[in-house]
Amino acid sequence: MKIGIPKEIQENETRVALIPQSVKKLTQKGIEVLVEGGAGIAALFSDKDYTDAGAKIIRDAKTIYSSSDLIVKIHKPEFSEVDLMKEGLALISFLQSSINLDTIKKLAQRKISAFSLDSIPRITRAQSMDVLSSMSTVSGYKAVLIASDSLPKFFPMLMTAAGTIPPAKIFVIGAGVAGLQAIATARRLGGVVEAFDTRRAVKEQIESLGARFVALDLGKEETEGEGGYAKQVSKELHERELELISRHVKKTDVVITTAQVPGKKAPILITEQMVKEMQPGSVIVDLAADQGGNCELTEPGKKIVVNNVTICGYLNLPGTMPNHASQMFSKNIESIIAHIVKENQINFDINDEINKGALITHQGAILQENIKHLMVGVH
Ligand code: NAD
Repeated sequence: MKIGIPKEIQENETRVALIPQSVKKLTQKGIEVLVEGGAGIAALFSDKDYTDAGAKIIRDAKTIYSSSDLIVKIHKPEFSEVDLMKEGLALISFLQSSINLDTIKKLAQRKISAFSLDSIPRITRAQSMDVLSSMSTVSGYKAVLIASDSLPKFFPMLMTAAGTIPPAKIFVIGAGVAGLQAIATARRLGGVVEAFDTRRAVKEQIESLGARFVALDLGKEETEGEGGYAKQVSKELHERELELISRHVKKTDVVITTAQVPGKKAPILITEQMVKEMQPGSVIVDLAADQGGNCELTEPGKKIVVNNVTICGYLNLPGTMPNHASQMFSKNIESIIAHIVKENQINFDINDEINKGALITHQGAILQENIKHLMVGVH
């Protein structure tokens, strides 16, 4: 059995899907691991580290794709990469299937068994495979560092001979994995933190990190849907939510937004008017920039300044911390490989709950009903 790790070809990607420590565990079991030369360099893992772990360094991606039984990578494969794949191989990567229908169709045509990292059900048994949580942890942490770097003020309260400096006020919108990590990091830096979310369950989690929960009367509305994820809120609740946020952003130094609803564009929670009313020098870090952004003015991929307010819409924050981000990613991949590889053979049990959620294409078919439905009309 051969596992291939190609170099990521997406611009500015610095992470690698499997690090030498994980490779060693696989090669010790008799699995052959092929790594494209230089795949780990940007994450500080040299080719020698991989050969020491028992891997073979391959100079071209073509050989990796045409001879591996399982390919592990971070980003969805480009068409040029799918063309190189041996028919019938297994692939583990992010696929975001509902917005990459052409790729899914091509993978099915090549009879690839494609396991999508963003579709793993968030059940206890799959926690060790949860790459989304690992990468959100990195993003939440880094968002606070970016905010503190852009803020022309201290985060902690300081009592010095030159006077007393009050602590920075941080407002976190969306307290999922990234939001909770942002709260914890901002607290460690000495900021005073408030946080808001439309899911009722988060109050206790926010308070346990030493932040104040900003409450909104949700009435009888059901705001939590399948898998513990947020549901899109009603128009009426959204309007009340905007009023509440508007009151809080006026008096804060930093706003970190992370609000997302699976399969939907990110909700707009900070309007242009709210930005105009913010204090000069304040900072917004919009972690939903990938999904269009929670702030109306966010420009994905950019840092802009509007009315003296800095708005950071950086993409791929995990790629700015490639060493630890790759380490976490790789550890999650180890668990997925242990789940699907039995006695050095790939074995997808399509009745298993994890595979049922994450296996998008298999043996020439698209397995997910929602993707098949969206596929109508894709030629
Ligand atoms: P996410 O990235 O989809 O969303 C981030 C946050 O934004 C969520 O907390 C969500 O409630 C919030 N949000 C959405 N719309 C909003 C709005 N209009 N206003 C304010 N906030 C809004 O979420 P995530 O971080 O991936 O986590 C989602 C859920 O999954 C959480 O309940 C989390 O605890 C749970 N989870 C479970 C497991 C597991 O059991 N294996 C692992 C990770 C996460």
